[in-house]
Amino acid sequence: MEILKKRLSDIVGAANVCDRSFVLQAYARDFGTMPPHRPDIVIRPRTAGEIAEIVNLANEFKVPIIPRGGGSAQEAGSTPSENGGITLETLRMNQIVEIDESNGTVTCEAGITYVTLMSALEAKGWKIGIAPSGAMAGTPGAHIARPGVGWGNIKYISSGDQVLGLKVVLPSGDIVCTGTAANPHSDVFFRYGLGPDATGLFVGAEGAFGIIAECTLRMYPMPQKIYLERYKTTDLTAAIQVFRELALNTLVVYVSVPVIKPGQLILFDINVEGDENEVSARVEKIRRLILRNPGIEYVGPEGPQKFWNGRWFMTGEEFKEGIAGAVNYFLPFDKLEKATYAMKEIMDRHGVQNYAQQMFPEPTGSEHVSLMFHHPADSGERAKIWDAMGEMMDRALEMGGAPYSKGRQWAPYLQKHLGNTGYWRMMQAIKQTLDPNHIMNPGVAGL
Ligand SMILES: Cc1cc2nc3c(=O)[nH]c(=O)nc-3n(C[C@H](O)[C@H](O)[C@H](O)COP(=O)(O)OP(=O)(O)OC[C@H]3O[C@@H](n4cnc5c(N)ncnc54)[C@H](O)[C@@H]3O)c2cc1C
Repeated sequence: MEILKKRLSDIVGAANVCDRSFVLQAYARDFGTMPPHRPDIVIRPRTAGEIAEIVNLANEFKVPIIPRGGGSAQEAGSTPSENGGITLETLRMNQIVEIDESNGTVTCEAGITYVTLMSALEAKGWKIGIAPSGAMAGTPGAHIARPGVGWGNIKYISSGDQVLGLKVVLPSGDIVCTGTAANPHSDVFFRYGLGPDATGLFVGAEGAFGIIAECTLRMYPMPQKIYLERYKTTDLTAAIQVFRELALNTLVVYVSVPVIKPGQLILFDINVEGDENEVSARVEKIRRLILRNPGIEYVGPEGPQKFWNGRWFMTGEEFKEGIAGAVNYFLPFDKLEKATYAMKEIMDRHGVQNYAQQMFPEPTGSEHVSLMFHHPADSGERAKIWDAMGEMMDRALEMGGAPYSKGRQWAPYLQKHLGNTGYWRMMQAIKQTLDPNHIMNPGVAGL
């Protein structure tokens, strides 16, 4: 490791390579609850060229590389397996390369935080379509690699849908530009055109096929008005029917459902954007649609509007209850109700003490979230949570669920349920071709 450390220092400078014990400990886990594993070395490159040199060294030394942004995901994709390796943190790659106002695109480095990116765009009157609510720590490189969802789900779908092109360092050390920039005479202005959708290969791969160094996203003029209001009900069936209608008619930018306790309380917030007249007309239509259901009550704009105004800082309020094991996956609308009761039954049977269920609807279904809170030192509660999570991941996949982010947490479950499929064999073949030494985030998402 000493020789490797020296050679890594030659690439990025000694100040950006570290193997001190307390630093390695800080990179042993993410924001989730999976068992921690320390890397052997942490490195912080500045450019795609430096990443390529690091990847070449990793191949020479046959050491895994684990890409990491802010470490705010929950499925242990950015933490090593028990084999350790080099954690490659992208946070020094934090520049906006270009805001192209004539074509409506922004190109940024992979490790800029969403708050930095969005603040710079807002100052010029622009916004991006999708951002995670964990925007203080989250980075676009990671969010595209998961791929993430968040503020904007119904109108803008997912961060993958907002990407026009990527610059990626492959496990071979080669640097690839996707989208129209595959043509060396062009910048990125369109995702498709020069062959298969190579961008899609890296959306959702969680670094297993390469490290995203730069991305070009669509951007949109900042709307004149962003308006939110809240509703409550005890009727889960009616609530899901409303989410479906709002989504199918694209009446909202997104719906957030932070509290689901069927029979007791379901809270949901709608978010609408546009000019004054457009927003008023839409909100009127939305209210009519929602309040057709006698079991749903209008609460008002105060709560969600206050949250929106302080959203960078107020997000994650629920985590004051402790860290959380998370089981997040997408399902079509017609399976959401059954899934809510199925997950609740498992958590209750395992005696999980403190949990929350949430939904974040998409155009054709919804992300279904279960968070199981506990104090980090409470190993008894954590053991119960891990048992419940295993059963929940099996159940989610059996119901046809698609994990939102896989990391290392879902890997054995994906292998178990998909292992005999052509899809799985194709993914393994791509991995083998791109990464014959299995150095690039090995094991993540089962790859
Ligand atoms: C309070 C809170 C709220 C959140 N809200 C949302 C939300 O609304 N929507 C949402 O989607 N997520 C949410 N998250 C999860 C997370 O914050 C986001 O997904 C965020 O974008 C992850 O970025 P990160 O840089 O912290 O990722 P990390 O945890 O560092 O990495 C996540 C995965 O991406 C891989 N990766 C990292 N960088 C790269 C790269 N450059 N190239 C290839 N692979 C890479 C890692 O190996 C890992 O597998 C939330 C988290 C918290 C704590």
